[in-house]
Amino acid sequence: MTVNKNKQRIIIVGAGFAGIKAALTLSKFNHLFHITLISRSENFCYYPTLLRTAVGGDSKLSIIPISKILKQKDINFILGSIKTVDKKSKNITLENNSTLEYDKLILALGEVTNYFDIPGLERYSHAIKSESQTYNFNKLLHDYLTENHTTDKNYLIIGAGATGIELASTLPAYLKFLMKRHNIHHHAIHVELIEASPTLLPRYPKDFTKIISHKLITMGVSLKLSCKVINQGIDYIQTNNEKIESKTVVWTAGVSNNPFYKNNQFLMNNHDKVLTDIYLAADDNIFVAGDNANTPYSGLAQTALHDGHFIAKNIIRAAHNKSYLPYKPKKPITVISVGPFWGAVLWGNIRLYGLIGAILRQLADIEGYRNILPLNQAIMLWLNNFKKQSRKCNFCDITSLKK
Ligand SMILES: Cc1cc2nc3c(=O)[nH]c(=O)nc-3n(C[C@H](O)[C@H](O)[C@H](O)COP(=O)(O)OP(=O)(O)OC[C@H]3O[C@@H](n4cnc5c(N)ncnc54)[C@H](O)[C@@H]3O)c2cc1C
Repeated sequence: MTVNKNKQRIIIVGAGFAGIKAALTLSKFNHLFHITLISRSENFCYYPTLLRTAVGGDSKLSIIPISKILKQKDINFILGSIKTVDKKSKNITLENNSTLEYDKLILALGEVTNYFDIPGLERYSHAIKSESQTYNFNKLLHDYLTENHTTDKNYLIIGAGATGIELASTLPAYLKFLMKRHNIHHHAIHVELIEASPTLLPRYPKDFTKIISHKLITMGVSLKLSCKVINQGIDYIQTNNEKIESKTVVWTAGVSNNPFYKNNQFLMNNHDKVLTDIYLAADDNIFVAGDNANTPYSGLAQTALHDGHFIAKNIIRAAHNKSYLPYKPKKPITVISVGPFWGAVLWGNIRLYGLIGAILRQLADIEGYRNILPLNQAIMLWLNNFKKQSRKCNFCDITSLKK
């Protein structure tokens, strides 16, 4: 690969929300930059709809080929995984031992699932954080029903954050759909949402979480608060209070920062985030964005997009001999859906509940997609939300639904 010596070499590692946004913003100035985007996956994962995919939604909604996003953009994509960074020599090494030099490096590697060394959890529980995990979970739901002709004794979701709440509230409708599709007599569905803290969504205002709790209970989801998982076996979990039988356990309760940073001696704060300055720089010419950085609203796609854009804008400013601007956090809008037709919205002091929340949750995805795709493609993709469930089962040759 030849690189024009007049152009700055910008390497972005991680093609998630932050990395893609930074690459697309910089690519508008491709006469100034040679942009290389590196990621260990060929697909971009649009996490906000991954739960819908896990309960039978179209995988196109959540898994978008990076080639489609970068089409006609002057961005060099490398499929690979970063191993080390040499901050003095300004180069990075990938797992395949190839080395690349940079003038500026943007790191946005996302988080990894953390099982906190709870015995059995990593082996027996399911996570929903990747395409393959989502597929495996969907297949597990299907196979249990079709092999046993009944539901599992309990469906356990551990972690009452936004992901756990959304999953717990959508699971019953999907299980009913699966039973109907496979002509299985309807059986009771027990979904339990287990949380170690005394409240769900511990970081949110009490009045907001109280209404969400109430909604979940009216939908038949049991809430088990102040309940800690101690270990898990093949068909049960043991908590501080009781043993609960289940072969369907989803772990949404723990994430930690990407191990790359500790392995490469980056300084971290008490919350396991990379310490950055007011320009999101963690070292000379190294910027950290999204879930990895110590920003106030880290852990959200909205923040990752904001960070990627912010870093790219500052690099563009510097290329025009302007000084960097300081980072200003963007207060996020929280929208949590509970079932398909109800959502809770928190935006500063404003709270909205009900169908309006569900509609806003859907509309937020147009904005989410628009950040990475042209508007027409973003809308086309979003419309897949409303496609009727296929009559053909993805896992067996059943082709019709019971009337
Ligand atoms: C199920 C689920 C639902 C969510 N729903 C919402 C929501 O509704 N709204 C919201 O705002 N947020 C939501 N989030 C959070 C949001 O998805 C994250 O905050 C966001 O993805 C962070 O973006 P990022 O760019 O920092 O990291 P990511 O999007 O995780 O991207 C990281 C990228 O780095 C790549 N990578 C990792 N390690 C390496 C390596 N060593 N070398 C090369 N590449 C590497 C990965 O393959 C990936 O492409 C959800 C998260 C989950 C798991």
